[in-house]
Amino acid sequence: MIDDKTRILIGKYGGSVPRYTSYPTAVQFQKGIEPQHLEIQLAAVENSEAISLYIHIPFCHSLCHYCGCHTKITHKYDIISSYIDTLCREITLVASKIRAIPAVSRIHFGGGSPNYACTSDIAKILTTIKNSFFTTHNTQVDMECDPRLLNVTKIRELSSIGVRRISLGIQDFDERVQSAINRIQSFTEVRRHVEHLRDNHIADINFDLIVGLPEQTLQSIQETAKAVVILRPSRIAVFSYAHVPWMKKHQKLLEKYPFPSPETRYEMQNNISQILQSAGYQSIGIDHYALPKDSLFKAYKSGRLQRNFQGYTDDPATMILGFGLSAISQLKNSYIQNTLESREYRASIESGHLPVSKGVQLTDQDIQARKAIMHIMCDLELDLEKFPNLKVRHYQLSLMAQDRLVVQKGQKIKITKAGKPFTRVVASCFDPYLENAADNTGKRHAKAI
Ligand code: SF4
Repeated sequence: MIDDKTRILIGKYGGSVPRYTSYPTAVQFQKGIEPQHLEIQLAAVENSEAISLYIHIPFCHSLCHYCGCHTKITHKYDIISSYIDTLCREITLVASKIRAIPAVSRIHFGGGSPNYACTSDIAKILTTIKNSFFTTHNTQVDMECDPRLLNVTKIRELSSIGVRRISLGIQDFDERVQSAINRIQSFTEVRRHVEHLRDNHIADINFDLIVGLPEQTLQSIQETAKAVVILRPSRIAVFSYAHVPWMKKHQKLLEKYPFPSPETRYEMQNNISQILQSAGYQSIGIDHYALPKDSLFKAYKSGRLQRNFQGYTDDPATMILGFGLSAISQLKNSYIQNTLESREYRASIESGHLPVSKGVQLTDQDIQARKAIMHIMCDLELDLEKFPNLKVRHYQLSLMAQDRLVVQKGQKIKITKAGKPFTRVVASCFDPYLENAADNTGKRHAKAI
């Protein structure tokens, strides 16, 4: 049970706040960024830089009712194969704009459900990348997978084309929760996949869990956490469910079920954390856990941890090129997002134009705030002396210091153990965009707790 003091803190700081997987966040992206802007950025890439590629496969076979991703449900494979043909053309087109192609450190397939695509189509994408970019034996290929679409044959195929890290969306093993969210997958099925993955040289396995789903209880989430540690994935991410039915209408389908309260969500996060840490997992950032031998933990220990749209990462790349519908490229001084409209996407590429839809160009102030926010999100501390021009919401910070969520000594700010669940709120003290009331209506971001 949580005490009254914590209950008050949740009431005070548990409101809407960005996740800070990017800064500025996606709500600041505006129309008006032209393809030429991306072309200029691509032309300026130097071959000494580290880049990564994100490939978006926006298709699934059935809709999970909590889904917040850009995806479409389809049972017509020709739609997927035709999309992949266009995507390969996009890869070639983008590469043609880069004069000095750098080595690719990561290729990440996200979605949607990338493993819904035939392995031969994934191989086609990888071949296009190899022919257009510069890949080495150090280029790591990661893929998000829907466990319901995996089997031993698929795992062997993915291994044979070079996939070496797989993220499995577990969410919760409880049958009532799975029924409410329309995603049924048993522990036995997942255990079998984990065995097959390890037998096929894919030892780097991530699990994603979600806290705050309907029908979830303290008991159910603890059982899930205990089941997870039996399977010993190398990394576990424990995300908070974002209920945003004004953006994702299908989430309304969940509203007939009971949701855990913010206080229960807080307890759930604590309980999971205890179970995972007792089982030897190390806590990383605000919601990730990794075994000590995992590269994410090593990156964290050596101060190389980064945060991007996928969450925490040890990827050294500072530049990520996104391909496919809705994919976002993270560049030195901008974020640029592809169109969300499939017809527009295809038409742009067929006419030889980059399918840019919106984005944001960072000012010097934004670049400084991005560094500071990523620093606090990754290391849970910040030295303001290193950010002389940073706009700081000192009053909010002092309130959080009074509540012992942060400790401030001179210019150094450190988030306390009690403050860790409110890290995003601390980060928001360095986010000038939130001063704009239109961005702070509570309708644009998920709850902190
Ligand atoms: S598998 Fe993932 S992307 Fe597809 S509907 Fe479910 S949550 Fe959304």
